[in-house]
Amino acid sequence: MSETTIYLDNAATTNITENVLNAMMPWLKEGYGNASSMYSVGRKSAIALNKARAQCAELLGCESREIFFTSGGTESDNTAIFSAAGNAEISGKKHFITSAIEHHAVLNPMKALEKRGFRITYLPVYDNGIVRISDLEAAITSDTSFVSIMAANNEIGTIQPVTEIGELCRSKGITFHTDAVQAFGNIPINVKEQNIDMLSLSGHKLHAMKGVGLLYVRDTASFRPYILGGSQQGGKRAGTENIAGIAGLAEAMRAAAAGLEEKNAKLLPLREKLIKELSQTDGAKLNGDREKRLASNVNFSFAGIEGEALILRLDLMGIAVSSGSACTSGSLDPSHVLTAIGCTYDEARSSVRISMSEQTSESDIETFIRCLKDALRECRCA
Ligand SMILES: *Cc1c(COP(=O)(O)O)cnc(C)c1O
Repeated sequence: MSETTIYLDNAATTNITENVLNAMMPWLKEGYGNASSMYSVGRKSAIALNKARAQCAELLGCESREIFFTSGGTESDNTAIFSAAGNAEISGKKHFITSAIEHHAVLNPMKALEKRGFRITYLPVYDNGIVRISDLEAAITSDTSFVSIMAANNEIGTIQPVTEIGELCRSKGITFHTDAVQAFGNIPINVKEQNIDMLSLSGHKLHAMKGVGLLYVRDTASFRPYILGGSQQGGKRAGTENIAGIAGLAEAMRAAAAGLEEKNAKLLPLREKLIKELSQTDGAKLNGDREKRLASNVNFSFAGIEGEALILRLDLMGIAVSSGSACTSGSLDPSHVLTAIGCTYDEARSSVRISMSEQTSESDIETFIRCLKDALRECRCA
């Protein structure tokens, strides 16, 4: 039994890389000043903050003033949705459109808005896990003011047609938000070229720390702050800035964007190997589109197997992967993503998500495949 962990749960979180840690360190040690202070240790923090903001803006294809640092993907998603809700309450256009497979950080705010009298359309994603532009077009009414559709899904890795959605929303004057937490660094993103009005990112899915993220907002004039307090970030997101976390996020984004092509060239053959090998095991079914998925993601159901039992067996072999119900562990509800693509209760409960990073090696995947086959056999005998 191996001591070292083969970590294949990068969609849940990632490790902090050396370059990111190095970018953070000065601001955890001598550079502890408050970016709002006038003396030099504070001014140095303010300079670091501005530099990080400019770097993030350039990487997304927008202006510095359009970037707001947040506490992560969840806050960014909530901020985007509740800002749009505030505007809709004034305009009266209280119809929002999203998809059935969004992260709970989008779905639960949408549910809260339904209780406040909003009408929410949850677009279907069919068995491939991808929304259809024709469905979006058909759902839009004169009351629609906001669309939130994720760029890539966290469970099944499917990639949504963000460019087409952006084009359609822009032509109708509808604000388009995308949760790009799983997409950035895996597929190219440019907010201007893709007509994206708001975009959420999270540091810890990109080798930066947990508890830091950003929200890009195109039309900052109509933006309604979610966190109120001091005048930090132009009064649009209050709270003393997490300089170390932000410097780390900017470096993580730089590295992710610079390494995108190399990462995909490395992971695509590993994904294909996984799909080929796992498809051959008894009762295996790939979840999500065969092609339009992140190179880093594979999600399988294994008929007759309990996902959680499989995960525990793999853990004993030093392998970390997650099951379809990991996010709602403690509850027996199957994943809303898997049920949305037509999985039965049993299929959803028997699912395993494998999510790689650029650090994943071919030998990791070979070991994983061998261990998985053993673990499946053990589960079936138990
Ligand atoms: C992880 C994740 C989030 C939440 O981000 P946090 O920084 O953990 O709050 C939101 N959306 C997606 C798609 C995610 O994968």
